[in-house]
Order: sequence, then C-alpha cells, then structure tokens
Amino acid sequence: MDISELLDGLNDKQREAVAAPLGNYLVLAGAGSGKTRVLTYRIAWLIAVENIPEGSIMAVTFTNKAAAEMRHRIESTLAKYSSRQLFGMWVGTFHSIAHRLLRAHHSDAGLPQDFQILDAEDQLRLVKRLMKLHQYDEKIFPHKQACWYINNKKEEGLRPDQIDDNNDRQEREWIRIYQIYQDACDRAGLVDFSELLLRAYELWLKKPVILQRYQQRFQHILVDEFQDTNKIQYAWIKLLAGEQGKLMIVGDDDQSIYGWRGAQIENIHRFLQDFSQAKTIRLEQNYRSTGNILQTANQLISNNSNRLGKDLWTNGGKGDPVGIYAAFNELDEALFVAGQINEWTENGGRLNECAVLYRSNSQSRVIEEALIRAKIPYRIYGGMRFFERQEIKDALAYLRLIANRQDDAAFERVVNTPPRGIGDRTLEILRALTRDRQITLWQATQIAIRENMLAGRAATALLRFLELVNSLQQDTMEMPLFAQTDFVIKHSGLYEMYKQEKGEKGEVRIENLEELVSATREFIKPDDAEEMTELTAFLTHASLEAGEEQASPHQDCVQMMTLHSAKGLEFARVFIVGVEEGVFPSFRSFEEPGRLEEERRLAYVGITRAKQKLTLCYAESRRLYAKEERHLPSRFIAELPQECIREIRLRGTVTRAYNRQVSGIAQTPILSDNEWKIGQKVKHEKFGFGTIINVEGAENNTRLQVAFQGQGIKWLIAALAKLEKV
Ligand code: ATP
Ligand code: MG
Repeated sequence: MDISELLDGLNDKQREAVAAPLGNYLVLAGAGSGKTRVLTYRIAWLIAVENIPEGSIMAVTFTNKAAAEMRHRIESTLAKYSSRQLFGMWVGTFHSIAHRLLRAHHSDAGLPQDFQILDAEDQLRLVKRLMKLHQYDEKIFPHKQACWYINNKKEEGLRPDQIDDNNDRQEREWIRIYQIYQDACDRAGLVDFSELLLRAYELWLKKPVILQRYQQRFQHILVDEFQDTNKIQYAWIKLLAGEQGKLMIVGDDDQSIYGWRGAQIENIHRFLQDFSQAKTIRLEQNYRSTGNILQTANQLISNNSNRLGKDLWTNGGKGDPVGIYAAFNELDEALFVAGQINEWTENGGRLNECAVLYRSNSQSRVIEEALIRAKIPYRIYGGMRFFERQEIKDALAYLRLIANRQDDAAFERVVNTPPRGIGDRTLEILRALTRDRQITLWQATQIAIRENMLAGRAATALLRFLELVNSLQQDTMEMPLFAQTDFVIKHSGLYEMYKQEKGEKGEVRIENLEELVSATREFIKPDDAEEMTELTAFLTHASLEAGEEQASPHQDCVQMMTLHSAKGLEFARVFIVGVEEGVFPSFRSFEEPGRLEEERRLAYVGITRAKQKLTLCYAESRRLYAKEERHLPSRFIAELPQECIREIRLRGTVTRAYNRQVSGIAQTPILSDNEWKIGQKVKHEKFGFGTIINVEGAENNTRLQVAFQGQGIKWLIAALAKLEKV
C-alpha cells in the first residue's frame, strides 16, 4: 500500500504525531487545528502501517456520536487499503468503556449479571423516594443537592466510609444519604453514571490480575478532549496505561468547559508530571475557520489568565466579518435568525450547515417557534432527548422490569402507570418493607400479598400488576425485540392511556411510542454485547445514548444545541444567541473569577465552531424563566477585535425591521395593540375557541394569554397567532 497517501492530508506537526513511535504524547492545540483528525489518522496508521492488531487499541471520545464517527472515518480511510472491519477495537466514551468492562467482569465488580443503568432522572427519583422514607426534610436536604453530592464524591473516587465528615453534622447526614442510596442501588443491581466509572476504577484496584490482562492487551490508548476528564477518569486511565509509554492524549486547555461537573484542566499538567517521558506536540494551523472568526476567538480567549498559550493561524482568507445583531427582544432575535437562515439557503447553503447555539436549553423554545413558523426544519441536539421523554421512559420501564424484576426505579415508575388504583399509602407500606427487610420492591410486593399486609383492593391490584409483568415476559419470550416492544406497549395499557390524552400532546406521545418500536427494529446488537440478551443490550443503548441525537441524520435541518454540546463539532454557518450579561456569561458565574473564565472558554468553543460565517445576537429585553428582563450586551462582545466584527443593528428602525421579518416569514398583517382587549373571544386554527385573559407588550410585540376551551391556557404572539375575533 502507499503509505504516503495516508500522510498526505496532514501537515508536518500532525504527521509527527500520527507516525510517532511508541511513547507517551500530549497533543496540545487550539480549536480546529486537527486534533481529532490526528487521533483518527493515528489509529489508521497503527493498523495499516505498523500492523498493530485493532484489538489492542482503545480510543476514548467525548460522546458516543463522536465514537461512531471516529470508527466510521477510520474504516473508510482503511477501506482504501483493505476491507478490514474494526471489530476488536474499543472506541467509546469513558462511560461506555467502563460499562463494557463491568459487563465482562460483573461478578468481580460485585454486580449482578443483569445490572441496569440509572440515568439522571431515575437517580433523582430514587434519591427522592429514599430520602422521604428516611424522613429527611427537603428544605434542609434538597434532593437535587443529594444527587449532586453523591455524584461528586464518586467522581472524586470516594465511598461513604472514605469521606471525612470534619465533625460537621450536616456533612454526616449527606454521607449517610449517600450510604442509604448506595445500599439501595446495590440491592437492586442499579448503577448510575458516576458509579460506572468508580466501579471500573475499583475493579482495577481490587483485581490486579484483570488490570494486568488489560494492560497487556491495550498497547495504544488514545484520548480526545482530554481537558475535560475528571479525577476518576484520569486515575483510571493512568492505571490502565501502567509504566509503559502508550498514551496519546489530545486537548486544548482553552476549551475546558466542564469544571462545574468536576473536570480538571490540571489533568494536563498532571499528565506531564506523572509521565515524565511524555512528549508535547503543538499544532498551530487552524483548518476550520476564516481569518476573521479565528482572530475573534483568539482575541477573546486572550482575556483569560493562566493559559498554556497557543498561537493559531490560518492560511484561508479573512471571510465575512463576524456579525453582531442587537435585537429588540428575544422574539426579534428568533425572527432574525430564521430570516438569516432563509437567506443562507436562498444563496445555495444547506440547512445542515446551520447551527444555533445557546447557553441554556430553555432558550431554545422561542427559536423553535420562529423556525416552525418559517417552516424551517430543525433538530435539537441534546435537550429533550427521545429516550428521556415521559412515554418512552414508561415503555422502557416495562421492558426493564421484564429484564430484571428487582429494578426498583422501573417498578416505581410504572406500578401505577396507567393508573390501577395503587395509591401512595400502599406504596409506603412496600417501601417500609424494603427498608426493614433489605429487599427490593418486587420482593416486598410478593411478601405483602402473601402475608396479607394490604387492603384487599390494593392487594388485588398489585397482584394483577405482578401477573401482568410476568405474562408480558412469557408471552413475548420468543419474539424479536421490536415485536416484543410493540406487544409490551399495547398490552401494558400505556398505548390506551396515551391514546386518550387529548390534543397534540397525546398524538406526539403515540408517535414517539411508535418511534420506539422503529428504534428497536433498527437496533443492531453491538459486538461487545455478546453475553447480553438483545433486550438488555437495547436498554443499555437507550440509557447510554439518552444524551445524544437519535433522529435520522439524513434529514436536512438546522442544528440547535447548547454551547456545551457543540464541543468538537463544526458548521459553516453559526448563530450564538443570547449573548447578554446574565445569560452568557450566566449570572451565577459573576461571583467567581474562575467560573467567569470558564464561561469565556465556552464562548471560545462556540465561536470556533464556525467555518464560514458567524453571527452573535443579543436582545435588549428578554423573557426567560417567566420574567421579563433588560440585559446589557455581554462583556464578551466588548472583548472582540473591532476590525473583525460588524454590527447589524438597525437602531431606531427596530419595529420596521421586526415588521419586515414578520411579514417576510408569516405573511401576517401587522396588528396594533389596541385591537386586543381582555375578554375578547377569539378563534385559533388549531386550539379552537378561547377568551383573552391577558394582554402584554405593544404593537407587534403584543403577547396574548388566551384560555382555550378544553385546550388550556396559552401565551401567543398576537402578530403570528392568526387569531380571529368571534
Ligand atoms: P476541536 O478543538 O474543535 O475539537 P480539532 O483540533 O479536533 O478541533 P478537527 O476537528 O480534527 O480539529 O479538524 C478541524 C477541521 O480541519 C476538520 O474539518 C478537519 O477535517 C480539517 N483539517 C484538519 N487538519 C487538516 C489538514 N492537514 N488538511 C486539511 N484539513 C484539515
Ligand atoms: Mg476535536
């Protein structure tokens, strides 16, 4: 084969990294300089040129999606030389790799074979239940804080008996809550996200023989986005790497954005100390962005202190200046973005190339509405994810119970969904039993029925529930997964229940349930899941992938996501909205300089996602979290180089600009505010008849609160809602 071909798409520095001899390496470089490309090419190089068996390579990526993409890229690069498929290679996130390890060594890790993963919502639910049971006052011990405490300690590698309470009473209680929670998880065979990592780490410590086996197996370990690893991930990788040089980590200290979740930039320094022979390779050419975008990013990040320092340059042209749009309010901002996207496609651009980035998920709704109005398809990446939706979680809970009766979180979720007359009092009795006898809810139910501890009606209802779950399993045993899923949705009563839910919401839920059946139909058991049943493999996939995009990647649509989930990605056309003091940087970051710098790094990440054209927007007044507030433009805007930006402000003509957008998109006549009065009866094409109960704002910003018959109360934008007076 022609090796030079493989190196052709690389510059000298990249080549040095890709073809480096065995050893420890840190590739330290700014955004868009080809770090991820280097990792991908290095793996291809190792396999194709150095003849390293793919089974001795492990690559850690930041998301499952990135893992799939990396695998695909390597395969297509290698396809030029051979038709090899990368069966033995381990590519995935820290979580998915830890999970794979625990599946393979569950008994050494002290877990039942069919252990299930608890996602954030399940965890909160379980914590809530346990804390109520043990009579913790929620005002003093908030449930969310308990989750945060537990996850934090786990990420630091600490078990309850290893935490020092410093003679602090409150701390002692948190430790006890952690213990209670952990006992409940262990009894039910449940593993939360942070537990995956801690268990995998403890497995190394407890079973040196297993560690050794993997140390021998993995001769090359590559880690992307290393700046966002936390303490336990670092410790885990360090043990696995052992004394031999075999690590290549790539990262950018300027893109560390998960400090709030325990990630430690210091891990980069630590790596250089712990692996004293490690060599640093710096990449300085940016291949992603235009000159203006790159200079904007460089200048912004230079306001941070304690940087490792990197220079980034580009060969490309300057391109368009970075646009700054001062919107009148958040609606104006949304309409502006929709209008700009239309312009982009009119000029031959694709929707797929457009991304709208925001600081927090709650900002998406207004943009979504404007895009829907403008008939621009979009996809939310992250946010309300498919596998996190209520109806999907309900259906999954039945499937989880079929796979494992001891799954308390699943039991709690569906024991009375659809309602079958099992009330809180009954559940309290069962919960008390689980505590007193150290058993699971399923077992407690059996005992309570057998020992006549419940009222007749409750006992009958529970008995029917147990029989239902048992028969769902028996009746579907021989079925393929999709038929089983379909059967469970129909026969559990979920389908009927959601069918009866009125309006669009119910329809969407039914569509989602149907989509779940398609998801199981398309599901292919991964090669690392041999020992699992298809069902367990799918449930694992659902938990692990919950955070990631499931929709068809083929549909051409605008990508919407938080700045955090944009990490590592790139788009030709990027909008960052809500660039305002208090939104971005967020209010909470004002108090601590460290947090403010992290916000700035987040801005750096956002700006460097753009390849061709970037626009930042801020609104002078914004309704967010149900409050109307006036904000100043973000300090980050003032930090940008004047020569690279252009204001798109239509000062003094805001209303006109707004009108133009409105009529351009929705073809709606402009209405004036005095046309709307409280008490006016109206008709809406979808929601039907209603009465105006509140009027806010003026002219084209008028918002109406309308009580619709049978459809609830809704806020509508008068200029867009196409209301008819009746
Ligand atoms: P980030 O820090 O945002 O994760 P990165 O350093 O990982 O960025 P990549 O995503 O690997 O950067 O590369 C950025 C873009 O530049 C990609 O589109 C990639 O294909 C392209 N690229 C990287 N190196 C080269 C090269 N030598 N020649 C041409 N294009 C390149
Ligand atoms: Mg990258």
